[in-house]
Amino acid sequence: MTAHLTRRNFLQISAAGALSLSVPFSSAKEVDRNIRWDKSFDVVVVGGGYAGLATAVTAKRTGKTVALIDKRAWLGGDGVLSSGIFYSARTKFHDEAGITKNVSVDDYWKQICAGIDDEPLAKVRDNSRNSPVYFGVSKHNPEVLRKAAKYSPKVIDFVHSYGIKFLPMNPAKPFQLTVEKPAVSLFAQKMVEELEKSKVPVMTMTRVTELLTNKGAVVGVKAQSTEGGKPMFIKGRSIVLATGGFLDNEALMQRYKRFWCRAEPAISAVGEKRAKDRTGDGIVMAKSIGAALEEMESMPKLSARTQVGIPLVSWTIFDVEPSYLVSTKAKRVVDEHVARYSGACLALLRVGEPYGHVIFGQQTFEGPNRRRFRFDEALKKKGLFKADTPEELAAKVGLDPKELRKTIDKINADAAKGEDTQFGRKDRLFKPLAAPYYITARGYPIRYKTEGGLEVNPDFQVLRADNDQPIPGLYAVGATCGSITSRISDAVASGLIAGLTASGLKAP
Ligand SMILES: Cc1cc2nc3c(=O)[nH]c(=O)nc-3n(C[C@H](O)[C@H](O)[C@H](O)COP(=O)(O)OP(=O)(O)OC[C@H]3O[C@@H](n4cnc5c(N)ncnc54)[C@H](O)[C@@H]3O)c2cc1C
Repeated sequence: MTAHLTRRNFLQISAAGALSLSVPFSSAKEVDRNIRWDKSFDVVVVGGGYAGLATAVTAKRTGKTVALIDKRAWLGGDGVLSSGIFYSARTKFHDEAGITKNVSVDDYWKQICAGIDDEPLAKVRDNSRNSPVYFGVSKHNPEVLRKAAKYSPKVIDFVHSYGIKFLPMNPAKPFQLTVEKPAVSLFAQKMVEELEKSKVPVMTMTRVTELLTNKGAVVGVKAQSTEGGKPMFIKGRSIVLATGGFLDNEALMQRYKRFWCRAEPAISAVGEKRAKDRTGDGIVMAKSIGAALEEMESMPKLSARTQVGIPLVSWTIFDVEPSYLVSTKAKRVVDEHVARYSGACLALLRVGEPYGHVIFGQQTFEGPNRRRFRFDEALKKKGLFKADTPEELAAKVGLDPKELRKTIDKINADAAKGEDTQFGRKDRLFKPLAAPYYITARGYPIRYKTEGGLEVNPDFQVLRADNDQPIPGLYAVGATCGSITSRISDAVASGLIAGLTASGLKAP
């Protein structure tokens, strides 16, 4: 259950749950005609994150028999760790806020194509033409992502139907709806309660290890308790894989995202205790029966984190305050404002730097975001340091004093002329730094979620690699699926769609 799950709580529980990894996968087999099924359902959902929960609830509402299986002791997946920002085209909340122009599904789709609300392709792209990208619509069939976009207002209605409230909308971000905290776990809890009320068997601490097929169709799964015991054979007319991404699957990471293996996998801090259980199980199992993969090489989402125990001044500071990133050589590496937090991490990786520091001046410290970035707390707890001169500032974190002086002088000279001669910054936050100066503790680029996975059609049926045809009986949703993004909006949208299609209904 997810009730009032805090991040710390989660990390403790999930570290304990690491034993689930000890159950091995076996390769897919055609089922024996005499197999004795332990249980049988219309729809079997594997994975109880937002995508799996939304699928199970939707399928159950159509009157089907449904089971939900999750290898962890708790449900809600990564959704309960997210900041709860849902992206959507026009909803009743837009109308209430008077945001009614340029917010149609078509407008939203244009934003997705341009990547305006997230990391635009240009922001994270390598210089090469064939560079892997984090986001965007370089999908084999963009209609799948477009369908998720079309369902976005339904996602908001669905979330709101559980009594979840949204913060007032910001007209500058007309496609973002952020839930009130701690609604990310409440949303999961409400879906679980609905499943429990409608007597859907919810099997936690049970790991699906194999897809069972008959004449090429998926007809069931083999599962095992993470505490051991006999395997179970569970029959399903439709099997929906909702097992999340593959951040912790080193083999898949090395094969498809080798460059980003330079960034440590982490969630809240570097060196944190957590189960390394985002192992892409659904992707691995479906691949072994011939499923197609999509966008596996795209960039995982990167962010900066400090070492455990040191407060982080979030690198989203580049969005809103005059602030600059310096490497271990005390040099700037990127247009910080355009790169944002994720692109800034990528820039460090590109130049082979293990970490970076954010610098800013007194004007930023005293600016309107002082509370948001918890500068005072960071100063007290060695997440932020202050000094009167660049040389003293450098000494606080072990950087070369002369280089930092040069970097700050260069920023100030360029900003005074309004021309960033190093990285071409053109934004209004490109301003000189005034003493006293501030520098953050080391911020390490980490990867916290993957993009890419199984290829599906707009009904979220998994496709075969050899002929692009759906594998009968098999569906994939959420971060398991490479045809959408791994954002929570798409995860829930895919669940609302697959909940219908896996139940044999249309999802127009
Ligand atoms: C720290 C963090 C912050 C984030 N912030 C945001 C944000 O602000 N906005 C946003 O849009 N997205 C954010 N994301 C990403 C987003 O939360 C996820 O991509 C999304 O929730 C994925 O949902 P899912 O249901 O597809 O997968 P998951 O949430 O990963 O759920 C998968 C579930 O499947 C289970 N499972 C896996 N393998 C098996 C198996 N073999 N058998 C049974 N069960 C299995 C897992 O235990 C898990 O419960 C964030 C992610 C993280 C980690």
